[in-house]
Amino acid sequence: MSERFAYTVRGARVVFSEGALAELRSELARLESRRALLVTTRGRASVARELLGLPGGVIAGAFDGAEPHVPAAIVEAALERFRALEADCVLALGGGSAVGLGKALVLETGVPLVAVPTTYAGSEMTAIWGITDRDDKRTGRDPRVAPRSVLYDPRLTLTLPPRASAASGMNAIAHCVEALYAREGSPVASLLAEQGLRVLVQSLPQVVLRPHDVGQRAVALRGAHLAGWALDLAPMGLHHRLCHVLGGTFGMPHAETHAVLLPHVVAYNTPAAPEAMAVVARALGAEEAASGLFALNRMLGLPVSLRELGLAETDLDRAAALAAEGSYPNPRALTGVGVRAVLEAAFAGRLAAE
Ligand code: NAD
Repeated sequence: MSERFAYTVRGARVVFSEGALAELRSELARLESRRALLVTTRGRASVARELLGLPGGVIAGAFDGAEPHVPAAIVEAALERFRALEADCVLALGGGSAVGLGKALVLETGVPLVAVPTTYAGSEMTAIWGITDRDDKRTGRDPRVAPRSVLYDPRLTLTLPPRASAASGMNAIAHCVEALYAREGSPVASLLAEQGLRVLVQSLPQVVLRPHDVGQRAVALRGAHLAGWALDLAPMGLHHRLCHVLGGTFGMPHAETHAVLLPHVVAYNTPAAPEAMAVVARALGAEEAASGLFALNRMLGLPVSLRELGLAETDLDRAAALAAEGSYPNPRALTGVGVRAVLEAAFAGRLAAE
């Protein structure tokens, strides 16, 4: 078959620099916003205070209750605050949880979203939204939720603890890996993914060793930017599906679940995507991708098993059944037995080939 690819380019403005936050006022003005609602997680109070103090009252108020996987009740509470303040824009400051809440608000209100990311999750570059009602996480892609403006300021990541930085970085690496083997990807997604992967593999060990080195933080954040963009341009496979199920239904910690699972999904998919895995192995400087990723997790001091993260062995069957539901692309055909084996290996923290 002759080559074919298709993707959409959106009009988002991205500013990346130490001190990018200083451009917030002009970005809000460009979007004709005079009353932005700041949404964030509780951990981000000091930066939030600084922003609330911006002259001219451009930030009308704040909602600091963002939580992972965007619980529907939190969206309702934030919407109430949005309406009470008569806000005309949402400013999400934080990791994927804050940006995710921002997207849910934008889906409901239609106002523009400005994102100031402080982790490596990459949600700021995507049109992917998610909302969790009880233990049921719905997700979708909708261009309306994609941030219209993204301000990357590496200084804001200096406070992210080493272990959280490493796990978040592995989340970004997972975007790159799945974009590389996505059948419906594009050469642009592959370029972003390969470069993002290389940059993250080089910078994450340095970030863990010297978390206050803003230069290395900038390199890692640049990698996360590329990874988030790759995530937006390529459909994700088994790995993201499993993380979605484990996070949305079993409440597992998002970034660390990504880190633990990735080597096992890669081991499963390697026979069906040898070229992509060769790229991954090369970026890691390893003989092959799965063991290279497993070793990287260890080097970064991350947990290596789902057991350590608190999953119960009795949940494996249900998780495997949920992950096998629905249709999504994956390089290797999915079987119930195959998915169960991936989960079992990740639960035990032992690579299938070991
Ligand atoms: P998070 O946003 O939940 O942040 C984790 C913790 O770190 C929070 O307590 C937060 O307050 C704190 N934190 C964030 N930045 C900090 C900083 N610089 N310094 C100190 N503390 C900081 O975690 P996350 O991994 O960034 O995001 C996870 C969520 O994002 C999940 O719900 C996931 O599904 C979603 N996500 C969505 C997409 C998408 O494209 N839609 C992509 C990736 C992740």
